[in-house]
Amino acid sequence: MALSQDTRPEADHAPERRLDRPIIEISGLNKWFGDFHVLKDIDLTVGTGERIVVCGPSGSGKSTLIRCINRLEVHQEGTITVDGIELNDDLKNIEDIRKEVGMVFQHFNLFPHLTVLENCTLAPVWVRKIPKKQAEETAHKYLERVRIPEQANKYPGQLSGGQQQRVAIARSLCMQPKIMLFDEPTSALDPEMISEVLDVMIDLAESGMTMLVVTHEMEFARKVADRIVFMDFGQIVEVQPPDGFFNNPKSDRTKLFLSQIL
Ligand code: ADP
Ligand code: MG
Repeated sequence: MALSQDTRPEADHAPERRLDRPIIEISGLNKWFGDFHVLKDIDLTVGTGERIVVCGPSGSGKSTLIRCINRLEVHQEGTITVDGIELNDDLKNIEDIRKEVGMVFQHFNLFPHLTVLENCTLAPVWVRKIPKKQAEETAHKYLERVRIPEQANKYPGQLSGGQQQRVAIARSLCMQPKIMLFDEPTSALDPEMISEVLDVMIDLAESGMTMLVVTHEMEFARKVADRIVFMDFGQIVEVQPPDGFFNNPKSDRTKLFLSQIL
């Protein structure tokens, strides 16, 4: 994989890869579900074009953390700033941030009654007010990029899980986000379909997209991540580039986790 700092094969909308320029800044983040303290004193700064893999045991707060970044979850303490906009109760800020942040879930969340093409054009037309014809052209471009141009007129139910997840990625990209969040995008897939989704994500990483990916796919993490964030019990326990993370983990909790999944 040829990764360079500045060249992007598809420089459509992702800003230039500049890891020294923060695009997400999380500081002193705390969140509770009722009495349950789910995120504890989280500090994390993500550079422009940086690729972060978040891993950790089930229930450690990974999903909650990335869901806070586009306000699918509300935090109670600390600050989250995305591309210079602070996430708070200001609805305009939330709306602006959601336009910049795409999200892909474990269970694709496609609209079953719409075709693949319609899934991809719905938000661009209704939210971004892009003319339908132009939205369709963009959709075809991204369906090509996720390697399923021939599926445009099918319904999600007619596709395999791997194809549906690639539609979900294309649909997000059609909104021209600056940041993509992935929450265990391959966990619901049959093993033979995992690589077709990961390959698309690797392409996206190479295009310069800022990505936060919750995954247990450690080969992907090794190959793609600039840094790996390990969480346990609502805390960030360790942040390291892949080499250090896998070969020289600092914390005993990380060592235990790695011994269980590798
Ligand atoms: P992970 O993604 O690492 O498995 P989550 O962020 O989904 O962890 O969940 C962290 C903890 O918060 C878990 O104990 C989970 O049960 C709890 N939790 C998640 N969502 C809610 C919610 N909406 N209400 C109450 N507890 C929740
Ligand atoms: Mg989760």
